[in-house]
Amino acid sequence: MHGIIVARAAASAAANRTVVARESTSMSHVIAAAPGAIVPVAGGGTFPVRRIYCVGRNYVEHAKEMGFTGREPPFFFMKPADAVLPVAEGEVGRMPYPGLTKDLHHEVELVAAIGTGGKAIAAADAMGHVWGYAVGLDMTRRDLQGEAKKLGRPWEIGKSFDRSAPIGPIRRAAECKVGADTRIVLEVNGAVRQQSTIGKLIWSIAEIIEHLSAAWELQPGDLIFTGTPEGVAAVGRGDLLKAEVAGVGSLQVTLV
Ligand code: MN
Repeated sequence: MHGIIVARAAASAAANRTVVARESTSMSHVIAAAPGAIVPVAGGGTFPVRRIYCVGRNYVEHAKEMGFTGREPPFFFMKPADAVLPVAEGEVGRMPYPGLTKDLHHEVELVAAIGTGGKAIAAADAMGHVWGYAVGLDMTRRDLQGEAKKLGRPWEIGKSFDRSAPIGPIRRAAECKVGADTRIVLEVNGAVRQQSTIGKLIWSIAEIIEHLSAAWELQPGDLIFTGTPEGVAAVGRGDLLKAEVAGVGSLQVTLV
């Protein structure tokens, strides 16, 4: 009994120290702290974003159109959390056409939102870590990415620019019906540019989480852009992009 009380007192002291440390840190900020990135949740509330992980070449036909064949191990890149461009249900987001590029591409993707963190998560346990899903766009300055690839340089200039991750509302996993036949579609100005089904993912969401959590400890708030199907192409100012994952949601963005 005494041991429990001592342990509680120690825990409470530790908790107090944490609070004090946090306060004194915020007191000593020399500039305003950046606001945290958030994404609206379908039906209310917000999802705070910690990191954005993206999977490269995760549909066979897209891998082919990018000049690759066969099943390679999944690989990952990141976008900064504040690259999200959240778009509420029924609204049309406005994405500024980014600088430096003459070849801005759309990549429609299913996004998995992590609610429970962990490292070295087995695929069999992975789906319990997913809080919900959204439809997102991994917007890409393809010309800059291509140059970086050719020179063996990092991809950030092509992938991780400001507002490069438009995303619709996150819907609770229990409310989504994401299966092999779930359709993923992108229309530009009413014409279909990309369409596939989630079953065509080379690496499933569970397998992605297994690989990703072997490399990084996942935390609540992490978003995973799971890869794009074939049909990626350029868009320009004035174009209206409509992305949809059936049973998850839709997302409309216009380039300004
Ligand atoms: Mn992508």
